[in-house]
Amino acid sequence: MSSSFLKNVDDMFIAAAENIDLPEGLADKIRFCNATYVTRFGVRLRGKMFTFRGWRATHSTHHSPAKGGIRFAPNVNQDEVEALAALMSYKCALVGLPFGGSKGALEIDPSEWEPHELEKITRRFAQELMRHGFLSPASNVPAPDMGTGEQTMMWIADEYRRHKHEDINGSACVTGKPLDGGGIEGRTEATGRGVQYATQALFASEVELQGTGFAVDSLAGKRVVVQGFGNVGYHAAKFLSEEDGCLITSIIERDGVIRNEAGLEIEKLKRHFSVNGKLEGFAGGTFSAQNEGALEDDCDILIPAALEGVVHERNAAQIKAKVVVEAANGPTTSTADAILKSRGVVVIPDMYANAGGVIVSYFEWVKNLTHIPFGLMERRYEATGHRRLAQSLETMTGKAFPLSDDKAFTDGPQEIDLVRSGLAEMMSTAFQAISQTKAEGSGDQSLRDAAYQIAIKRIAASYQAIGI
Ligand code: GLU
Repeated sequence: MSSSFLKNVDDMFIAAAENIDLPEGLADKIRFCNATYVTRFGVRLRGKMFTFRGWRATHSTHHSPAKGGIRFAPNVNQDEVEALAALMSYKCALVGLPFGGSKGALEIDPSEWEPHELEKITRRFAQELMRHGFLSPASNVPAPDMGTGEQTMMWIADEYRRHKHEDINGSACVTGKPLDGGGIEGRTEATGRGVQYATQALFASEVELQGTGFAVDSLAGKRVVVQGFGNVGYHAAKFLSEEDGCLITSIIERDGVIRNEAGLEIEKLKRHFSVNGKLEGFAGGTFSAQNEGALEDDCDILIPAALEGVVHERNAAQIKAKVVVEAANGPTTSTADAILKSRGVVVIPDMYANAGGVIVSYFEWVKNLTHIPFGLMERRYEATGHRRLAQSLETMTGKAFPLSDDKAFTDGPQEIDLVRSGLAEMMSTAFQAISQTKAEGSGDQSLRDAAYQIAIKRIAASYQAIGI
């Protein structure tokens, strides 16, 4: 599937660019990947030398740094990395982040290596990236993706700081670090949180729900199928079920699918999955090892939160969901996208739906560069102001102020409050922009078409501003 991933992204870009009036050649300039670095490096492990292959593609540098995750997976390739890097450019432009787009990959099955071996391999990879200008707070800033997490990011940050100890901004060379290593509250949950906000935004929009048969604000009780129970799938399922009242009726993983028509208990399933590494054996649902076809399970909302290319021309007509929220990057092929569109299925496109991760990465990068935690200067000042306001109102009215025991009112905001508020703001603003662009276009535009158009126009505008 991944050999055509870049073509899928390109096809969707070309279709959207056709509707925009751009100077000759600019659309291609935006679409083509700027540079892809391929490295092969050796690491001595288990008494012999192993050679690893890695990539870092910088798709665009109209803003610096170029931003995007690094994935560790056994079957990655250059085409996939370039497609993912392109999606990063469009994603950042769409939600208004001052970043170019990049993506990296290492061809490795992380489960085959011990943590101390992974550390050695990751540090070697970081050295290669650094030496060739593909890692620094100013030029290229990786983050977690499939098969990597905060520990991987911490090794990279530490390696960078060892070599560039004079760089006071060294921590900002990578995001998604652990809290004690310069990370930010809410980064781990961020992509899943963004998926929740995107779904909420759709269900608050009468116009965009048209054709689905769903009423505005009817998210509670909706039946949801989630593919992938990694960081993104887990958090999306958790927030949608615990906070919005959705029923997670199927979760699909490598070893099979677990179903429960009354809604799976996500925290319990998470504990089972962490201990056993598989869904099988969970008492709170019915397990089947047959995960093929499970995307076609009856439901209202489908959330593919795993691999690219999983909704394709052979299953798109059988998808029962009326809404698809693309938590993964590139889960729908361009052919499948056209089929879903013709069937009236509303697709919340990846470049918007999963932008929560990079949005909170932006907050982390800014926090590292400013060297001061968010909210530190104003928290106490605001808290005092709120208390004074409450006391004044009590004096004026002679009545007790109803919120005087509410900690959210009397204390100033914590970092997590500010992160969630910033994320909600950016997700909501982007949804309104997509919806408005869609409304201004021809009648058959999808949310994806509109999202691409916004991204392309914004990147074009920054190139034009510098006279290209
Ligand atoms: N890997 C994530 C993505 O695909 C996060 C990227 C980032 O935070 O830079 O959006």
